[in-house]
Amino acid sequence: MTGLADKGFTPGLASAGTASGGGQGGKDVAGSSTGGARTLAREEFPAFFEALTAEGYAIVGPTVRDGAIVYDRLEGVDDLPIGWTDRQEAGRYRLERRNDHALFGYSVGPFTWKKFLFPARERLFTISRDGPSFSVAPEPSDPTRFAFLGMRACELAGLEVTDRVFQEGTVADPGYSARRSRILRVAVQCGQAGGTCFCVSMGTGPGVRDGADLVLTEILEPGPHRFLFEARTRAGATVLERLKAAAAPAADERTAGEIVARTASSMGRSLETEGVRDLLRETLQHPRWNDVARRCLSCTNCTMVCPTCFCSTQEEVPDLTGETVERWRRWDSCFNLGFTELHGTAVRKSGLSRYRQWLTHKLGTWHDQFGTSGCIGCGRCITWCPVGIDLTEEIAALRVAPPSSSKEAPR
Ligand code: SF4
Ligand code: SF4
Repeated sequence: MTGLADKGFTPGLASAGTASGGGQGGKDVAGSSTGGARTLAREEFPAFFEALTAEGYAIVGPTVRDGAIVYDRLEGVDDLPIGWTDRQEAGRYRLERRNDHALFGYSVGPFTWKKFLFPARERLFTISRDGPSFSVAPEPSDPTRFAFLGMRACELAGLEVTDRVFQEGTVADPGYSARRSRILRVAVQCGQAGGTCFCVSMGTGPGVRDGADLVLTEILEPGPHRFLFEARTRAGATVLERLKAAAAPAADERTAGEIVARTASSMGRSLETEGVRDLLRETLQHPRWNDVARRCLSCTNCTMVCPTCFCSTQEEVPDLTGETVERWRRWDSCFNLGFTELHGTAVRKSGLSRYRQWLTHKLGTWHDQFGTSGCIGCGRCITWCPVGIDLTEEIAALRVAPPSSSKEAPR
């Protein structure tokens, strides 16, 4: 693991005004504080927004909209979900009032950071008729530098997964790479586990180990409402320097550790990952697949909310005169019947085959393809499945040998 000192960084000496964009700014420091942790009182939190803005970042983060906590542009602290929390179960999500004024007192919502790096719909280029020939104009890249405020530990792990998918193959995705190079990752450690979270099982949370530029822990008690700040990269330290926050007392660092430990011990779910890749390969004919197929609606919700699902399709959109045609990319899903269409027919015709493909890829063959699991344990696919299908339950069921009398083979 590379330390900041290896990159010529000395905590506390980062020069203000040299925002280099933290997203790709070298590897991160190991999961401990670099030293120089600071404490900022809740009343001073607007100064953090000012520091991010002064460094040239547009801030996106959690906000309440349409009965959910979503990620969107934030103008100030009042846009945060102050005093709100989420209650989640399989197929159920509700916002509730907390009995305090926490800014980050929820787990995760239906949106993911993926949408800012890999937009749900994106024009890739435009082709225009040019006399007897034609010209191709690539879509210009939006130069906005985003600060992702409120990234959870599991979401940082999800970002590592999409980095591998979009940047480490034989051909890197230029749009993703350009946007990714400009982000600042501001993580907030979870103060509570969601009802469908299982990040402990996946080794991705709830404490932030690496992958962030800045790590915040919200401390509601004991003492006044405050935030512990730790810089993990030079870009993070540059923002922190602007804050002029006091050095954190050792007690605040201990409290942050206790908050993370408490969250870990109240995890909503767990998934036994030992041998899961082989399990999936060996249970392709398990009757459980029929059971899940009877419930699955092939609605695609699970793939739309997943921070690591990356499938897309492309469309040509001509204008009425035939002078120009645009190529657009939009999110697609392996649950769509047409997703595997070949020579006019779908390869995976049944809902069973589509659900099995999704789960075996996500937890099994993703390892072969990308060297990691495709699941970071955020629980979104469980919460937002309209019929409450829960992949942790499905894996547990596949571990049980089918009764020898079972005659029903998967279709
Ligand atoms: S598969 Fe489900 S739990 Fe895993 S990362 Fe995707 S949405 Fe989250
Ligand atoms: S598992 Fe649930 S969310 Fe996913 S396609 Fe089936 S019904 Fe929809």
